[in-house]
Amino acid sequence: MKLVINNIDKKYPNGVHALNDVSLTIEKGMFGLLGPNGAGKSSLMRTLATLQDVDSGSAFLGDIDILKDKENLRKVLGYLPQEFGVYPRTSAVDLLDHLALLKGFADKSERKQIVSELLVKVNLWEHRKNAVSSYSGGMRQRFGIAQCLIGNPKLVIVDEPTAGLDPGERNRFYNILSEIGENVIVILSTHIVQDVRELCTQMAIMDKGRVLFSGNTDEALAQI
Ligand code: ADP
Ligand code: ADP
Repeated sequence: MKLVINNIDKKYPNGVHALNDVSLTIEKGMFGLLGPNGAGKSSLMRTLATLQDVDSGSAFLGDIDILKDKENLRKVLGYLPQEFGVYPRTSAVDLLDHLALLKGFADKSERKQIVSELLVKVNLWEHRKNAVSSYSGGMRQRFGIAQCLIGNPKLVIVDEPTAGLDPGERNRFYNILSEIGENVIVILSTHIVQDVRELCTQMAIMDKGRVLFSGNTDEALAQI
């Protein structure tokens, strides 16, 4: 399944042209969205996560018309925003169980299975009964990834997920993300060239709302 983005344009009410004729084709695997602050990365990710409307353009994940068919897109989407809130004093296991219920998993024992597998996958099993609000930054981001993966998404979008993490935490996070990228489309936004070089086979460079280059990572990085 491919993600195809056609000529997306978005101006905010303050006049900022955040997305200027953005077109991209993204295949299965890790895709790096590289660009400085203000380039439009978050705007594009929020658009693909159907959290904001655009002025024109279209996007298709397989045959799902993302911008029109939000309901079907959300069934196959995992989105980790730059910042996410968690309920205070609620344990990881309870939060994930609740989110799985909201995603439509009505059967309690099925949820238990899903939640356990996710907690093991992100190496938080031994901390499952602790409040997520008490987690360190690294643990919290790994919890965020678990949250994303409920329901086996086909498209996973993570927005600057390692900002503020130390190198050990960052590696742990990226190892989990790379494993996910073996099976689905993962879009990773970052302003760190090295992260894209190490993790992503495909990438785009954005600046001032425009895509300056997209394609193979080696080719793209040879241009900058
Ligand atoms: P990036 O994620 O690459 O840092 P953003 O998509 O956050 O870029 O921002 C792109 C541009 O759009 C910036 O100039 C930013 O100030 C502006 N912008 C982002 N969100 C909004 C908003 N909700 N309203 C107005 N301007 C915004
Ligand atoms: P990471 O979160 O990447 O594992 P940290 O340096 O943040 O790395 O934490 C080291 C270890 O200390 C964690 O793996 C975890 O076992 C434990 N730990 C840190 N913070 C907490 C916390 N708030 N509650 C429970 N255990 C914690």
